[in-house]
Amino acid sequence: MTTIIFENARIVDGTGDRPSEPVQVLIEGGFIREVGNKITSNAAQRIDLAGKTLMPGLIDAHVHVVASTADLGQNGLLPDALITVRAFKLMGEMLARGFTTVRDVGGATSGLVAATLEAAWPTPRLNISGKALAQTGGHCDYRGPYNDDPVRTRGFALGALGRICDGAPEVRKAAREELKSGANFIKIMANGGVSSPTDPIHFLGFSREEIIATVEEAENAGTYVSAHLYTDQAIRRAVECGVHSLEHCNLIGSETAKFAAEKGAFAVPTLVTYDKLSSEGPAMGLPAASVAKVDDVRLAGMESLTIMRDAGLQIAYGSDLLGGMHIHQSEEFVIRGRVLPAMEVIASATHIAARLLRMEGKIGTIAPGAFADLIVVDGNPLDDLSLLTRQGQHMPLIMKAGRFVKQTALT
Ligand SMILES: [Zn+2]
Repeated sequence: MTTIIFENARIVDGTGDRPSEPVQVLIEGGFIREVGNKITSNAAQRIDLAGKTLMPGLIDAHVHVVASTADLGQNGLLPDALITVRAFKLMGEMLARGFTTVRDVGGATSGLVAATLEAAWPTPRLNISGKALAQTGGHCDYRGPYNDDPVRTRGFALGALGRICDGAPEVRKAAREELKSGANFIKIMANGGVSSPTDPIHFLGFSREEIIATVEEAENAGTYVSAHLYTDQAIRRAVECGVHSLEHCNLIGSETAKFAAEKGAFAVPTLVTYDKLSSEGPAMGLPAASVAKVDDVRLAGMESLTIMRDAGLQIAYGSDLLGGMHIHQSEEFVIRGRVLPAMEVIASATHIAARLLRMEGKIGTIAPGAFADLIVVDGNPLDDLSLLTRQGQHMPLIMKAGRFVKQTALT
């Protein structure tokens, strides 16, 4: 494997409000070996980054790589071969935007992870929940009110984001099956959702008993539960039951945000998806009943960022886009930057997300021992977060595990 020294590297990693002084960074064997001023090495390649910014590869903590269309009920009926090919395309595009790690919160399987390790096409690192758990009539049950056909009790199809289970014994079994199959954590649908037809936003998914059972199963396996949540009531209940990763959180209040912060939970807002579901959803196949629900959560989203930040809640980066809307994945940076300091927005996609994924020190940082997952940005994203958008246009170099997945001439 190649050995490279980046020279004159000014680092932006979400730990400071300005780029570091220029340093040298030694890459060897897929890892960052050394960060310093006088690195002695016979590296074949030295790359001068004067005028650029070096960042750890970005982390998106809320994606669905199998969501090839916005009509998720339809997506679950597509053949696995088609979903696989589309997922590779979506993942390749995520990597090209600088996301070297993504956390899949419903859909991706360990089989897909194995495929990414064998395939010739580069993808981000995948951290997965397997199939999300949802109750009958919850967010993942795409049957309309007049459809009483039996649902699949197991998410056999690769394109299915979740599986239905009811009652503590079934929920425990489902969690155990996902963990056995290689899930890194467990995802549950604990509130109503936009993309499913019979669960309004205020709907509470699962009983307390079922949530507590899932948390116990996850903790027994040394991991945690992530939950799909919008309303303050649902979030408070989930945190009381031990849920650790709080997805969306659009309607959170300040008392609940403080409570979640005290419990050491993480929030993963996904504001860009509501913007795009509202403007582009209908054209992308989102059913009309779902479009009507979008504004229930979209309008409160911006306020939630300030509430969570003021409460001291750890906030990780999420996008949650579906189908053709994936191209907007990086716009979450700019949306958050309207209310939060750029350093905090970057931290959400670097060291905070790394902590949520329990990969602290391995990703989201430029330090010895971390994977050599790096991006080079033209200019300083602390001054202009939009440098991280436009499909990686301002990223001349993208490296994953010490290999360039994008390498254009530095100017
Ligand atoms: Zn989601």
